[in-house]
Amino acid sequence: MTRQANVVVIGAGIIGSSVAYHLADMGVEGVIVLDKGSLADSDGSTSHAPGGLRTLTVSKFFTKLGIASRQLYDQLPLAEPGQEQFFRTGLVQVASTAERFNSYKRIQEVGASLGVASDLLSPEQTAELIPLLDPSQIVGGMLSPTSGVIKTSLVATSMQRVAAATGRALFYDDTEVTDVLVDNGRVIGVRTANPEIDHVECPQVVLCNNIWAPVLASKAGINMPLFPGEHQYIFTTPVPALASRAEREVTMPLCTVDDISIYFRQHHERLGIGSYHHEARLVDPWAIPERAQLPFTPRDFDEAWDLMRKHLPDLDQVEVESGFNGMFAFTADHYPILGESPVKGLWSAVGAWLSYGSEVGKVMARWMTEGDPGMDVTVADINRFH
Ligand SMILES: Cc1cc2nc3c(=O)[nH]c(=O)nc-3n(C[C@H](O)[C@H](O)[C@H](O)COP(=O)(O)OP(=O)(O)OC[C@H]3O[C@@H](n4cnc5c(N)ncnc54)[C@H](O)[C@@H]3O)c2cc1C
Repeated sequence: MTRQANVVVIGAGIIGSSVAYHLADMGVEGVIVLDKGSLADSDGSTSHAPGGLRTLTVSKFFTKLGIASRQLYDQLPLAEPGQEQFFRTGLVQVASTAERFNSYKRIQEVGASLGVASDLLSPEQTAELIPLLDPSQIVGGMLSPTSGVIKTSLVATSMQRVAAATGRALFYDDTEVTDVLVDNGRVIGVRTANPEIDHVECPQVVLCNNIWAPVLASKAGINMPLFPGEHQYIFTTPVPALASRAEREVTMPLCTVDDISIYFRQHHERLGIGSYHHEARLVDPWAIPERAQLPFTPRDFDEAWDLMRKHLPDLDQVEVESGFNGMFAFTADHYPILGESPVKGLWSAVGAWLSYGSEVGKVMARWMTEGDPGMDVTVADINRFH
């Protein structure tokens, strides 16, 4: 059946949900969001990302996106009554070297210039906030109090519900977009594999399908220089020292051990540990499985585990219970790919982290409706590649 829309959003992860939320909020009628999987437990990274919200980085661009995104995450209605979806715990970055600790001063300056608070910490102050850390292994830390942890799927669901409640946005699950239709350099619609809505005519399409974007974009003649990469995340068996604080899912700040490219957060009585401390594991965009996850490869995690045991002595009492190699999108310069492609009406909102999800959606909605993204997006503009 053919439908008409003003905007089709492809992908209902945190970015697609946010684009729809902000379009609806700005009064745009006729927004249709199509996702090839389930809406609540999507096939994408949003479904399994541990939710580290970073509101302060050395990049002014990302700091602006992060702090603005936090404002919405802070206000969204709960997707599931009684289930917390934003843990306002802060983020503690940990330095094992003096050079790293000094680099925090530069990040602080970026924050200060934008009114985003942070505090430098001694090893003892750091261990007060993260009691599992061995202070003798570190030089110091930095607290970003506005950072924290979000339940990414719940936040996406909440944005979908608010958008749907306006009556301006419709969401379809199990609806894979198989083609983007272009005529004379302009987008004119999409085709899908769902017979209920197999053709949508529309003047604007937004690619929010992240690691799957290069393939679909190529069908419209657009080169999308974004590559899927694997990223490991494991859960430990219960940590005895967390037993007394296990009632809430997260009570400790998110923590990054920056010199070894590893981070961790609490999951009730377990720890979740994410590692970039391995060889890059890139995935061919033309060979992505149905879900953005691959089986855990323990040998890539062995060294990370040994390094973490030095920082967290309690790990000697536990083991890796389960793990997975998640997947998300990387670009050559780490910036997302945002804006209107050389095909008129075909927009891109890919390569963005969940930390920046809300504001990326707002930037896109403003850009599409007012012709102005509302902030300087030069570093992330799709046209840097075309
Ligand atoms: C293990 C792990 C840890 C992470 N930790 C953090 C973190 O701490 N902080 C942070 O900021 N970021 C983190 N990230 C990154 C973050 O999760 C992603 O950047 C973010 O979720 C991307 O959201 P998205 O909506 O762009 O993409 P996705 O969530 O991947 O959504 C894309 C959607 O598009 C749909 N789709 C694909 N193709 C089609 C099609 N043809 N038709 C219809 N629908 C389609 C998919 O079903 C999917 O639902 C992490 C990622 C992983 C994997």
